[in-house]
Order: sequence, then structure tokens, then C-alpha cells
Amino acid sequence: MARVFNFSLIFFPRELVLLSKETNTFMLRRLLPLVFSIFLAIQTNAQVNLTQTQNSQAKPKLVVGVVIDQMRYDYLSRFGDKFGEGGFNRLINDGYDCQNNHYNYIPTYTGPGHASIFTGTTPANHGIISNNWYNKFEKKQVYCAEDSTVASVGTTDAAGKMSPHRMKTTTITDQNRVHTQMRGKTIGVSLKDRGAILPAGHTANAAYWFHGRDEGRWITSTYYMKELPKWVQDFNASAKAKSYIRPWDTYADIKTYTESGPDLNDFEEGFNGKEKATFPYDLAKLNKRNGGYDILKSTPFGNSLTTDFALAAIDGEQLGTDADTDFLTVSYSATDYVGHNFGVNSKEVEDTYIRLDLELKKLLEALDAKVGRGNYTLFLTADHGAVNVPGYLSSLKIPAGYFDSGALSTAIREFVASKYNRDDLIEDISNYQVFFSYTALTANNINEEQLEKDIANFVLQYDHVDKVFTRTQLQETDYEYGTAALVQKGFNQKRSGDVFIVLDPAYISYSAKGSTHGTALSYDTHAPLLFYGNGIKAGKTYTETYVTDIAPTIAALLNIEFPNGTTGKVLTQVLQ
Ligand code: ZN
Ligand code: ZN
Ligand code: ZN
Repeated sequence: MARVFNFSLIFFPRELVLLSKETNTFMLRRLLPLVFSIFLAIQTNAQVNLTQTQNSQAKPKLVVGVVIDQMRYDYLSRFGDKFGEGGFNRLINDGYDCQNNHYNYIPTYTGPGHASIFTGTTPANHGIISNNWYNKFEKKQVYCAEDSTVASVGTTDAAGKMSPHRMKTTTITDQNRVHTQMRGKTIGVSLKDRGAILPAGHTANAAYWFHGRDEGRWITSTYYMKELPKWVQDFNASAKAKSYIRPWDTYADIKTYTESGPDLNDFEEGFNGKEKATFPYDLAKLNKRNGGYDILKSTPFGNSLTTDFALAAIDGEQLGTDADTDFLTVSYSATDYVGHNFGVNSKEVEDTYIRLDLELKKLLEALDAKVGRGNYTLFLTADHGAVNVPGYLSSLKIPAGYFDSGALSTAIREFVASKYNRDDLIEDISNYQVFFSYTALTANNINEEQLEKDIANFVLQYDHVDKVFTRTQLQETDYEYGTAALVQKGFNQKRSGDVFIVLDPAYISYSAKGSTHGTALSYDTHAPLLFYGNGIKAGKTYTETYVTDIAPTIAALLNIEFPNGTTGKVLTQVLQ
């Protein structure tokens, strides 16, 4: 009977939304039986109702935001038979599975992805328009997390000179800090600096990332602290990273890996110093020629090291042990490096996800033990997907290929120079955007809308350019659907360029081996979204959801203010 009650509640709010648009007769027909069934359910489940309400009113002691870098949605189904019960399947079976969850802007890159998940909005508002972009005010390329005003902590290398200062809006983690008078903690963890810093927000107690090379240490910046806390120093001294410099072979017999292509194929980059990209990989032999400790990033051991460090953070910071909700953000980056190196269809990717499932199991069991089952809420998503290797797709007769973006930039510059008889009108071409020099346009009385149109017309004639948008279009039209809407939500009036170029589906500007991402196509936008634990229902939906819905949904769960730029909506179906 408890199930009947839950069922009615799931449908009640949705029915109301539908009803507001429909006729009175329809309202009566649908609403009367519904009210009656709820009334019945409440009558027969009064006791259950009371208990459930009491449970769901207790806030989670800890929220864990897990991001899997470059995880396509279909990895859940493709590798599903290989996953055990304690990892992904525990989240799917006992939690809520949003099966049609997407990125709603481009570019689908790591920096914008992490910022969007935690701010509940898109680059149009949070301002992280790419990983690196041309900053037209500083007249140079900038990196999304770099900050020359802070210093490294834990290394003398510049790898620690990072902060979230380029992110313009608040995160859900910021809102929790402000709401709890800064008593609720936030700790961000990732191999990648941007994967740790952007989720943890402006007010984080700490964000930690991994510095490889010959150091193999977790580091941070003076944005957060003056020196590493003892637990981090102890972790770094423990030689945990070193323990992973060992052979990488498949977790199970490679013959059972029937969800990926042959180990030896034409579509994998592999490691320096090893002729063929085939198992096993002896990291002790390969590490010197592949960035020292950085080689761990391109193996599943990078994810294991991330779990180890996240668990040390829970202990070291006593997360989830008092009345104020804490936040732990964990971004698993090795999946992205492995995908870039070996491609979506590789045995190496399959092995990485089989092992990641075990890492999740380990993380969940540790949370059960340390925070308590039912006392924490966890969500899991990805910062973008990835395209199958275009060379592989072509071999299957699927339209795909490679694009020389350098050649296009040269062609655009030559076209503008010959048409306008000047070579200073374009300041920069990067991220498939053309940035004008407004000073040169003004000095020469050149209309910028005309220049936009001329470049757009020229670029659209170019082979394997699929679509072009201009600043004027994006500022004057409100796009609701399709690629244009995604370009617009990625377009920041202040920071973005003036002409936007979109390539043909599955055409990439990348090496002929390995996978990449960045587009508005479903292979890049379709990302898993799983909610689990305190306050979360069991269920699933194919109704479209967006990554920007995560932060407001968690804000609703915690009953705190939304991140200040939120454009996503609360996924009420997920919440108890
Ligand atoms: Zn990424
Ligand atoms: Zn291989
Ligand atoms: Zn990537």
C-alpha cells in the first residue's frame, strides 16, 4: 500500500501542470478519480505517511556530487551487464535515473560542464565559456581556472596558481555555505584543477587536484589556505600514488569484454614508448616517457587514487558528522584521458568503466559506514559525452571525418583582408568563434553587422561547416530548439566572439586517433544523471532533463536558496 501512496504523489503535480493547459471537462474527468485515490491512499497509509514525512524532513548530513569526466549516457547500458550490484546499479535501482538528460549549450567541455552542473545555469550566465578562451579585454588566451594573483600550496610548481574567480555566478555549494553561516563545509576533489575548483565554488574550504610529473602530490592554492592540512600532507607522504605505478591489465579476462572492439585497432593513440595500444601496459616502464605520475591520469588507477583521496577527505574533514549539511564534490577525470587516448569503442574504455563501477561501490560503502545509509544524498552525472572515433564511424559508413580548423582560420583571415583591404579587423579565431577588433572597426567606420554577415556567408560555403551564427542573431532572436538554442545558451554577451561556426556531425578537429567532444550532438550532450539517498525517490524517467536542473533540485532538497544565476528547474519527480 505504501507504493500506491507514492505512485499517486508522483503523478499529482504533473497532472496539475497538464491540467492548467486543458479544458474544464478534462480537468474534472482526470482530477476526481485522482483526488479520490489520494484520499484513499492517505486514509489507509496515514501511519506510513507520517514516518516518510519525518524521514524526508531530516536533511542529508552530506551531499556528494560525483562527475564522471566524458561519460556518455550509453555507457550505463553498454557496460551494464558487466557492472556489479554495489556501484552504478545500486544508484539506478535504489535511486532516480534521468535517462534523457542533456547538456543544453555548447561547447561541451570540462570547464563549462563542471560550472553548469553546480551553478544550475549555462556559459551565457556563469561565464565559463570554454576551458581556454580568447579574453578580448586582456587581449590574450586565458584558462578557466588560472589565477595569477594566488600561489601554489603543496608544490613549488605553478600548477597551483588556480581559483574559481572567472566563474561569475554562485554554485549550489556556495549557497549551502552561506545558508549554514559557513558551518557546512565544501571540499572539492579531482585529478583536474578545474574539476575540483569549479564544483567547490567561491566559498569552498578547499579544492584539491593532482600534480603529477615527478611529484605525484595533491595540491591546492592560497585562494583556499596557506598550507596543506595534516591529512593531505599525510596522504602525500603515504606513497599511495607510487603504489599505482604498476602494470595495467584488464580487470577480467579480456575475452569477456564483448562490448568493445578489438584491443589492437587503427583508432587508438596509446602511450609513448609502446608500439601497440594493447594490454598489458607496464606503467613502471612507460611513466618516464609519459609525464611521470601524470601517466596515472590516462589509466583507471587515476580514478582509484581519486577515491582514496576523497575517502581521506571525508575522514580528515569529518564530513557529514554534524547537523550542518556538508558538500563533497568528486570528479573522476581518468575516464576523459582514457577516452581521448583510446576512443569510445576501445577495450581500454570498457576496462576503465568496469573498474570505475568498483570505485563507486567502494565510495558508497565508505559513505554507509562513515556517514550512514540514508544520511547522505549523492548525485552522479558527466561533464559531457564523446564522439566515437570518426575513422571508426567512417569504416561503418556513418558520416564522420576530420576538419582542419587552422586552415579555416587562415581562409577567413584572407577573405576578410581581400574584401575589406585591411588585416587588423579580426583579433582572434578560437573555439570556432571569430573575435572582431572593435577598435579597428570603429576607426575604419566598418559596420560590424555587415562584417558578421560577410564572414557567415563565406564560412557557410566551406566544406564540412554545417551552420553559422552571428552575434547579432544571438542577441536579437530567442532560440528555443535545436543547435541554435545550444549556441545561444553557450554565448556570453560579454566574453564570447562575433561569429560562431558549427561543423558537420561527427567531424572533429583532432588527431586521427582517440575520441573528443564539444558539440551540440547527442553523443556529446547526453549525459547520465542519477540521484540517490536521503530525500530521493526510486524511479526513472525518459522526460527530458538538463544538467542545469541538478543544482536547483539539490537546493530544493536542502530547502536553501538557488545559485544566483539558476536557469534550470527543480526535478520534482526525483524528490520524496
Ligand atoms: Zn571533461
Ligand atoms: Zn587497445
Ligand atoms: Zn576531454
